[in-house]
Amino acid sequence: MAKTPSELIRANIRALSAYHVPPATGMIKLDAMENPYRWPVPMQDQWLALLREVELNRYPDPHATQLTQALRQAMAVPAGSEIVLGNGSDELIQMILMALADSDRVVLAPTPSFVMYQMIAACVNLRFVGVPLRPDFNLDAEAMLAAIAQHQPAVIFLAYPNNPTGNLWDRRTILAILEVAPGLVVLDEAYHAFAEASFMPELARFPHLLVMRTLSKMGLAGLRLGLLAGGAQWLHELDKLRLPYNINVLTQVSARFALSQQQLLRQQTEQICRDRDALLVELRAFKGLQVFPSKANFILFRCPAGQAQGIFEGLKAQRILIKNLSAAGSLLQDCLRVTVGSPAENAALLSGLRLQLG
Ligand SMILES: *Cc1c(COP(=O)(O)O)cnc(C)c1O
Repeated sequence: MAKTPSELIRANIRALSAYHVPPATGMIKLDAMENPYRWPVPMQDQWLALLREVELNRYPDPHATQLTQALRQAMAVPAGSEIVLGNGSDELIQMILMALADSDRVVLAPTPSFVMYQMIAACVNLRFVGVPLRPDFNLDAEAMLAAIAQHQPAVIFLAYPNNPTGNLWDRRTILAILEVAPGLVVLDEAYHAFAEASFMPELARFPHLLVMRTLSKMGLAGLRLGLLAGGAQWLHELDKLRLPYNINVLTQVSARFALSQQQLLRQQTEQICRDRDALLVELRAFKGLQVFPSKANFILFRCPAGQAQGIFEGLKAQRILIKNLSAAGSLLQDCLRVTVGSPAENAALLSGLRLQLG
């Protein structure tokens, strides 16, 4: 008789829960760090005209040559560094971890941080070591350095700014980690557009540093495009794990077009940063909420003890979807996360919260 999944599928995969995306039809969607703005109609028309020329019957350029050039410029990748593109930065995390997977290898990251580091580590059978952040969500420098010395991680992931906390970690601590790391250090700069801080210029100094970016949080989440920048000796190896046509032809054409419209992307980003700062002030005015600083396009806050689930459900009943992190417990106890939306969406969130918090 053929074997069952519980006999053939590895226990650590059976123990995973699939990445859950809640249904959002008809909701004000403030749960996933999407940009709330679409393109102006004339720009949509220009884009559609380009799509009409695309030869869907042909495979895409496997090296996405023109898009790669445009991205190098747009992301200020230093001249001596190479880049590899991924179907979202999720795919780049997967490529890095597949390349490193071997018995007894360790992946290290602060916790809480982006869940995919741990999830993909489990998928490829790497051991994940999480080092708790301090209660203010800054890096615990001593604990990080001690864990690095003890576990000798093959790779360390540092989200800068961090998701789900929104803060930028201390630069000197990150440099200290780079000094002692025995393996790769990946700086995940998914929220770079909102943060005005980057380790991209440090690539020349640290051959084991990789910097990851994505277009998702800049208004192109639907396209699925991420990039990894770093030294040729590492990226040539990682590129072997890339499936030959991972960046489809529609993404290549659309992303190039979007990057040619820098001014609009910048305007949207600046608007979101202004609205984030206004929303921080408004949220801090609620008695009982502990609002954490943010350099990203989302804000984390802690509710009065035991109330996060109720507030989350109350907002959902008003068709406002945010992210409930309180179930994760420990450092995220009673915490909710909201994406910065349009001014109208943010106003709806605030009046929803006023109803919940009285
Ligand atoms: C959203 C996010 C990503 C994934 O982005 P995609 O490019 O859409 O796969 C990676 N890292 C962090 C920290 C994120 O928040």
